[in-house]
Amino acid sequence: MLFAKYWVFLVADTPFKWQKPLENLGIALMRVILLGPPGAGKGTQAQFITEQYSVPQISTGDMLRAAVKAGSALGLEVKGIMASGGLVSDELIISLVKERISHADCERGFLLDGFPRTIPQAQAIIDAGIIIDAVVEIRVEDNEIVSRLSGRRVHEGSGRIYHIHHNPPTTAGMDNETGEPLMQRPDDLEETVRNRLSVYHMQTQPLVQFYTELASSDNIAPKFSTVDGLGLLDDVQARLVAALQ
Ligand code: ADP
Ligand code: ADP
Repeated sequence: MLFAKYWVFLVADTPFKWQKPLENLGIALMRVILLGPPGAGKGTQAQFITEQYSVPQISTGDMLRAAVKAGSALGLEVKGIMASGGLVSDELIISLVKERISHADCERGFLLDGFPRTIPQAQAIIDAGIIIDAVVEIRVEDNEIVSRLSGRRVHEGSGRIYHIHHNPPTTAGMDNETGEPLMQRPDDLEETVRNRLSVYHMQTQPLVQFYTELASSDNIAPKFSTVDGLGLLDDVQARLVAALQ
């Protein structure tokens, strides 16, 4: 079991309940990376996991989009790269994530969504001494991705994610919580999606081998698992929960 080392010392007699470890224990660390192509469902599932485990979601894509929207120097620097579906520089993204993880709300864990995306980014986590408990790859075929992303809609303010068919809002085009209009990401147009997929296969997919090898060579390495990302949202969620135990 993933958190066994903490459970043994703290609550030897408390039955394990994945749903709310913080409520049961007061302490449980959950430092997780979600890997997977654009459209695999990382953000959708991250919303569930962060709620259940009371840890913040760190989405590098959301952070960069906020910078673009604010028109900051960072936003101006990354705007064109994001629009084309390329990756922003490792250096920039590594310092952004390190700074974010140093915040107090990450003390008991965090969920990284969209980071790392390259081997140097994964290596930077290790070099910085940041411990990760689990890496879960959500696997989905390319053709499914293209259809998912053409139907993706997002609430800009919160990052809440919908799909026009698979996860529709209560009122079409409107966010369930705020009633504000949803938007379509400009990089979700088919041509850009195809480019993002090829960037994924070249730069990010090698992380699967990286973490598989790490898990077999180092006993403080994160547990690595792959889950099938096809099927109902609830089914994928159940597979993730199983992978995190
Ligand atoms: P998706 O959720 O569709 O996988 P993201 O929202 O994570 O996409 O990322 C959107 C864009 O932000 C990427 O196409 C890339 O340009 C940039 N980006 C996000 N995270 C990273 C990262 N870790 N390294 C480099 N670029 C990134
Ligand atoms: P990522 O963060 O990996 O880019 P998202 O969570 O934004 O992916 O999901 C991409 C799109 O696919 C969204 O519109 C989302 O509602 C939809 N989606 C997520 N999971 C599933 C699923 N299991 N089946 C069908 N559509 C899904």
